[in-house]
Amino acid sequence: MEGGLGVKTSVLQDGHVSHASFPVSIWRLLQFISVSIVIVCIVGLFVRPDLTLFFIWNILIPVVPLLLFVAPGLWRNLCPLVTLNQLPRMMGLGGSKRLSPWFVAHCGIISIILLLIIVSCRKIVFNDNAVALAGLLIFLALIAIFMGVRYKGKSGWCTSFCPMLSVERLYGQGAALDIVHSHCQPCVGCTKHCGDLKSKLRTSSPVRGKAPMTYLMFFASIFPGFIFAYYLVPDPVMLNWLEIGRMYGYFIVYCSISASIFFLVKVLFRISSIKMTILYGAAAFNIYYWFNAPLMGSHFPLDFQKEVDIAIRVLVGGLSLLWLVHAYRKTSH
Ligand code: SF4
Repeated sequence: MEGGLGVKTSVLQDGHVSHASFPVSIWRLLQFISVSIVIVCIVGLFVRPDLTLFFIWNILIPVVPLLLFVAPGLWRNLCPLVTLNQLPRMMGLGGSKRLSPWFVAHCGIISIILLLIIVSCRKIVFNDNAVALAGLLIFLALIAIFMGVRYKGKSGWCTSFCPMLSVERLYGQGAALDIVHSHCQPCVGCTKHCGDLKSKLRTSSPVRGKAPMTYLMFFASIFPGFIFAYYLVPDPVMLNWLEIGRMYGYFIVYCSISASIFFLVKVLFRISSIKMTILYGAAAFNIYYWFNAPLMGSHFPLDFQKEVDIAIRVLVGGLSLLWLVHAYRKTSH
């Protein structure tokens, strides 16, 4: 039930034992580096805005979905916001409050709404305005720390309101690498059906219960459409409310079409909710890299860009097939 520097860690809850395979000290070093990168990015957004915006949106962020798809546990250990959220706990200042039952029941939809707002606002402001992006990063960092001071364990952020939580759950369904959490030393039992403790059961355990599964299914159903809209709908001019309204109108149309196809296929072919969720998770991952492949290829010499573009799309397709098989094998429905 406890961990320490340089030793393997085992945590027991509800009869389930997980074993960390890296010394905690290594994780702490990597977490320090990850928070340092964020601090450098925030400073960079003020002193070298164009270069830092390019680094964040074209190099850093495109790696995150791949990480979540292959090893969500790695992301959960290295995410700088998790580290900041757990910093008070490491310093003995962690909170002891529990979320109210209402928030426990509805944090799933709140985290989805936060993700949709933040990502869609990239098109309005965060893609180009370095000061606004720095403000967002500072705001999120402060919120994560505050929730760590107030609420028990990770319950105030990582397992409740974090905007990435739904993507983690969606992409974590067929993850190949099972990396155990490193933050909770020891576990304080802050979250029911904690996905960190039961990483091997990630397909079902974090979404167990009617409300979480409903939220995950809802998110899965709209997410491919949301990604299409992000890349296909023209960016509005900042503060032009008509254009911004039109952009959100298109987002709603794309998400509605995506959800309609989801439920039509589910009913017509009698596919279970969890299998449809897995299928749409793989689709969203492919759509994201389909649009990002040319962007990633553009970092290579001109002569190779087309080949890199094709290679990324083929690799992503192949990886998704393996992921699909893995995810389907883990579910019995
Ligand atoms: S998030 Fe909460 S329940 Fe999960 S391992 Fe950490 S302390 Fe335990």
